[in-house]
This record gives sequence, structure tokens and C-alpha cells, in this order.
Amino acid sequence: MRKPLIAANWKMYKTPNESLAFLKEFLPLVENHERDNIAIFPTMSSLAYCIDACKGSRVDVGAQTMHWLNEGPYTGQTSPTMLASIGCDHILLGHSERRIYANETDDMVNWKLKAALAHGLVPIVCVGESLEKRQSGLTEAVLRWQIACALNSIRAEVPSTITIAYEPVWAIGTGSTATPRQIAEAHRIIRREVAFRLGQHCADETRIIYGGSVKPDNISQIMAEPEIDGCLVGGASLDPKSFSDIIHYQD
Ligand code: PGA
Repeated sequence: MRKPLIAANWKMYKTPNESLAFLKEFLPLVENHERDNIAIFPTMSSLAYCIDACKGSRVDVGAQTMHWLNEGPYTGQTSPTMLASIGCDHILLGHSERRIYANETDDMVNWKLKAALAHGLVPIVCVGESLEKRQSGLTEAVLRWQIACALNSIRAEVPSTITIAYEPVWAIGTGSTATPRQIAEAHRIIRREVAFRLGQHCADETRIIYGGSVKPDNISQIMAEPEIDGCLVGGASLDPKSFSDIIHYQD
């Protein structure tokens, strides 16, 4: 069975001190939580501090982006080897904010995914359509294209750790959450494409989570859909109490 993942994407928020203050309050709130996997994605400058603070807890820590090569003359970049060497175990790939503001292409997402798998990092590949594409009836085409590119030349034996995050661009940070029905429909498209690329067995194992304005008051409704294997939370994960309330949603 796929164990759900509830993850916090802190984007460009929180200094190291603020991250540690969050964890001081948050870790005791989730110390006995077994139903879901929990992960946080702090900024690069807070990463090592958070990894240290989360040691021995139920909370995994990941980076928000990385380069696909191990080293080289790439100013400003961090490599998968460097992340793995400090105990980072998860990596976010292809978030729409990276695609939009850092020109991350589908090819780069594919190279990064291969690098993540090679270094034993748990990859969370973000896909999702813009409002314009949805209104033009192109949601399925966009999702299938993004998944096909991300999984290009990846072998079916490797990917049981791959998590895919369906994050419709129009729902991120906007307060307008996709309905559970819209999410489930998108997740079915994604799972079918994964099955087509990597086989049904792999598709059955692939966790597909949702991101876009998830809050304590809509999480139960979202998680009630059997197609939804967890959530990637932005704004509502910045406060320890609010993120803990999301994690402790009622079935
Ligand atoms: P949001 O962000 O929860 O603030 O909409 C989600 C994300 O970008 O991962």
C-alpha cells in the first residue's frame, strides 16, 4: 500500500533561526504520528540545520531544487552528491515556480530525476496545468506531456520511490483549491501515463500527492479521495500549529 506523504514546501521563507523555532514547536506535535510520512523542504541556507534538528524524529528533510551534475563551474548550484552528503533524503523537482521563474524545462526535470534516483534521494516531481491550459481543455495533454518527459528513459525497476505532485498552477497560493473530483481526475490521468511508461505495477506503487492551497479546513475532504496519496503544502505549512493540524486531519 502507498503510505501517504504530507510535505511542507517553505519556498523562500524562514531564516535558519526561524526554521529551528518552527521545528522546536512542531516536532513534539507530530512525534507519535504514524499514519503518514512527513517531510519539510526548507531553503538551502536552513537545510543542514533542519536535517540536524530532525534527526531521530519522524520528519524527513528535502531540498527545493538541485543541479543534475555532481560538480562543475555552475555558480549558485547545489549537486545531488552535496545534498546526499549532508543527509538530505528528499528532493522537489520541477515545481511550477522553478519552471516559471528559473526556466526549468521538462528535459532538466528528467535529468534531475535520473540524478536523484542515482543518489538515493526520494524525488517529488511536480506537474500541473496553468489556468489558460485548463480553460482550453488541455489539462490531460499537459499532464501526459510533463509525465512523459520526466520519465523519459527511466527504467521500470528503479522508480518505486518516485512521488508525483499534481499542482495545478492556478491553485498555488491563490486560495482556490481544486475540487477533490478535479484532483482525482488529474491523478487518474497521471497514473495511467505512469502505467503506460513504466508498467502497471510501478504505477500502482507511485504515490501521487496534491498541492495548491491546502489548508487545515480542506485537507479532510481532499484526503477522502482514495486517488490522493498526500499533499504538498505551501503557505499553510509555515506555521507549526497549522501544519500540524493538516497532518492530524480526521479520516
Ligand atoms: P500553496 O503552495 O499551498 O501556498 O498553494 C503549494 C506549493 O506551491 O507547493
